[in-house]
Amino acid sequence: MREKAGATAYNRASMATNRSRVWLVALVVVLSSESSIRLSTESAAQLGGQPYDIVIANGHVMDPESSLDAVRNVGISGRTIRAISTERLEGRVTIDAAGLVVALGFIDLHEHGQAPDNYRYQAFDGVTTSLELELGTADVDSWYAERDGKSLVNYGVSVGHIPIRMQVMHDPGTSLPAGPAAHRAATDRELAEIRTAVDRGLARGALAVGLGINYTAAATHWEILDLFRAAAAHRAPVHVHLRYAGLIEPETGLTALQEVIADAAATGAPLHVVHITSMGLRFTGGLIDVIDGARRSGLDVTTECYPYTAASTGLESAIFDPGWQKRLGITYKDLQWAATGERLSAETFTVYRRRGGIVVVHSIPEEIARLAVARADVMIASDGMPLTGPKVHPRGQGTFARVLGHYVREEKALSLMDALKKMTVMPADRLGVRAPEMQHKGRVRIGADADLTLFDPDRIIDKATFEEPLQTSEGVKYLFVNGVLVIKDGQLQTGVTPGAAVRAPIEQSAGR
Ligand SMILES: [Zn+2]
Repeated sequence: MREKAGATAYNRASMATNRSRVWLVALVVVLSSESSIRLSTESAAQLGGQPYDIVIANGHVMDPESSLDAVRNVGISGRTIRAISTERLEGRVTIDAAGLVVALGFIDLHEHGQAPDNYRYQAFDGVTTSLELELGTADVDSWYAERDGKSLVNYGVSVGHIPIRMQVMHDPGTSLPAGPAAHRAATDRELAEIRTAVDRGLARGALAVGLGINYTAAATHWEILDLFRAAAAHRAPVHVHLRYAGLIEPETGLTALQEVIADAAATGAPLHVVHITSMGLRFTGGLIDVIDGARRSGLDVTTECYPYTAASTGLESAIFDPGWQKRLGITYKDLQWAATGERLSAETFTVYRRRGGIVVVHSIPEEIARLAVARADVMIASDGMPLTGPKVHPRGQGTFARVLGHYVREEKALSLMDALKKMTVMPADRLGVRAPEMQHKGRVRIGADADLTLFDPDRIIDKATFEEPLQTSEGVKYLFVNGVLVIKDGQLQTGVTPGAAVRAPIEQSAGR
């Protein structure tokens, strides 16, 4: 329980840049002795002796960026963290957080379920910012407008190649392509329309470009390269579901990874590879090595995983085009129909594929799930699904608590601090260039957004399983979104919608 010198120095530096000259004079006086105690005094002085709106007392603050790992009192006013101190703080409301970890709220880069029900499950899983960056949307303005003032947690979206290609090519699929957008190369005119729509989405503040090349299987390598060019022009990252998840040459996860690393290198666009385990399958470790190597060579390449042994997707999609058993190394019984939970056979596969719907795909070895969770450079992201049936994948409901409870506490596969890093500062930094407001998230520091997760490290655990997926995680006692309590003493608060849009700056020339 020791606060590293760097943490205090960091706080001093950020305070010095943010405050007035009078304030600097006070700081000089303060620096003459033990500084952590003084921080609160200064903060209180800044507020003219007013109490903070909320004080979180005696919590175990864990901040991976500064390595602060000690009992502190945290003062919040408005939507901002105003003090982090060993000294007692005055608050209009004080929450006793003894025995709880006080961490920044988790930032999920990959959650398809962006409806109130999903946000409720995510809140209990410790998530304060839920982003849909893989599939994305074709209409950025409408997507944000639909959630404005109505959301429990913060939200954001990418401009999605999949929905745009579906629109331009008149694909009959619902959320994933089932017709020409999956199976036909685009004409020159269609390519121009796709590029225009992607550029427009970026100009309207999309956080990233989302690609699911596996679903748009007939998109040429040229089409994909052009999308990287669009992203690079707007300094936006490209979040990619790779072209192949296959085990058999030449259509392997490695070939697919090499395609997008080359595109990133050729264009300068930052690259984020989504759910590495369901792409790499038993070769996941090798793919992570390639990503690490690319980063060491100067490319901006990152990745993420969810802590489960199954993937999930649309049965009507190109993933299940003929040959899928060989490509993925699985068979019918490894597919589970989300509407009922039944395992498929050759007969039901044909019926349900024609109908279309979500399946859970039991394809990822346990040692691979564990390896990816434990690797220092792999972020945690849920890939949560819309709640389309009683047996949807549990990952949207339990990813973060599962990492903290199962892999950190029970399996000791990684430390708690390392796990928090993968859920807070790493995803915040992934978007920090594109969306500067993300620099105020992902770290417990003075001036940061008060998105906080207070959880019991001895109790936090996922409850959602493949059998009973619609269960909330346990162990998150308090959750703050922008300074507003969303979970209080383990209870979801009603009538609060503090979630704010996380959006890149809208470009001047981009009319609606
Ligand atoms: Zn995906």
